[in-house]
This record gives sequence, C-alpha cells and structure tokens, in this order.
Amino acid sequence: MAVINCPSCKKKISDKTKSCEHCKIDLTTLDAEKISSLKRVSAVATSQKLMNHSFIAMLLFCGGFLFLYSQDAKPGTWEYIAAIASTILGFILYIITRVRLLLTKRNQS
Ligand SMILES: [Zn+2]
Repeated sequence: MAVINCPSCKKKISDKTKSCEHCKIDLTTLDAEKISSLKRVSAVATSQKLMNHSFIAMLLFCGGFLFLYSQDAKPGTWEYIAAIASTILGFILYIITRVRLLLTKRNQS
C-alpha cells in the first residue's frame, strides 16, 4: 500500500482507497483527463485565493500607512500602534503571499 496525494484536495490518502476520506471524491471514476482538469481547477483556485490574500495585505498596508499620515496620529496612542501594526502586518503578508504565488506558478509549469 502506498500513500498518494488526493487529486482533488491534495491530502494524503491510500492508493487502494476507492474514495477520498477527506473530500469524498470517487476515485474509481477518475481518469487521466479528469485528474488533469481537477489539477488545473485547483491551481486556478489556489492562485485566486493568493491574489485575494495579497489584495487584503495591500489594503492593510495602505490603510495603516494612510491613516498614520492623514490622521497625524501621535506616537503612543492606540491609533498610532494600530496603524503601525496594520502597515507592518500588511507588508509581511504581502511578501509572503507574493512568494507563495511565485512558488505555485513554478510548480505548475
Ligand atoms: Zn480528497
């Protein structure tokens, strides 16, 4: 018995199982064409999800940054701390998401 990745949800399953225990997909009806189309769909879904994440990260970053300068927040106030935290968090999230997006694209080709 070998362990393979489910073609639909990518979780580890046995190659002898007839349906995935995680996403309940029927593996007996899967052929190569279906598997490759499932892979395409999940790759698109993954990059779509990452694009959304990077958009949220951008919003956090820009929102924090703009708030800091437009509201002229004083250091030490909670607005200032929240704006700084949002800017830093957004920046880090954005970098992580871009790297993950790059890795996803590299895996596809
Ligand atoms: Zn599955």
